[in-house]
Amino acid sequence: MKWSMWILALLITVGVHAQTQQDKIREAEMQRQANRQMQTDRQIDSVALLINQQNYAAAEAKIISILKTVRSVPSDLTFYLGKNSYYLAKYKQSVDWLNKYIQLKGTAGQFSQEAIDLKAKAEVELLKEKQVEVQQAAQLLSKDFEIDCGPTGKVVCPVCNGSTVVIKKTYLGETYKTCAYCNHTGALTCEEYNKLLKGQLTVGSR
Ligand SMILES: [Zn+2]
Repeated sequence: MKWSMWILALLITVGVHAQTQQDKIREAEMQRQANRQMQTDRQIDSVALLINQQNYAAAEAKIISILKTVRSVPSDLTFYLGKNSYYLAKYKQSVDWLNKYIQLKGTAGQFSQEAIDLKAKAEVELLKEKQVEVQQAAQLLSKDFEIDCGPTGKVVCPVCNGSTVVIKKTYLGETYKTCAYCNHTGALTCEEYNKLLKGQLTVGSR
């Protein structure tokens, strides 16, 4: 009777001990997570501060370092990333991240209104950029014009440089082929020349 009581007491002690050990591990893990969360929050606060100080490049560097450490991007960080990108004139990136914040928080988030306003501004800038791109694409290019070849109406064939022969380098060495464009003359008519510039003079089109 006495022995069995002892054993029972011992088992209970061991059991309780194991229980507290598990609790301790769980507690420590929760503590670690809370610490990590706190650290991330602090870093996000410092991003906000850098943005307020208009130190956008430093803010971006900080954001990138946070992105490397977090398993998922906190919603506040999506906002700051979108906001900071706007001030860095990275409008596409700005719209992208502000959209994320708005999707996550709707209109009820702490920064929702600012996100919506900034996104609208970023979209305007993005549109301007696209228009500039279109304008840049619409440059004056010679291929869009008819070129006057002068009174002879002939131009030295630019494909064979007037030699009527085109040299092709293959793994067997150089091979010589008759120029397919100028028909053994080494010259093009002005019409052919203009077609060639536009990419419309195809072999055998004459
Ligand atoms: Zn030729």
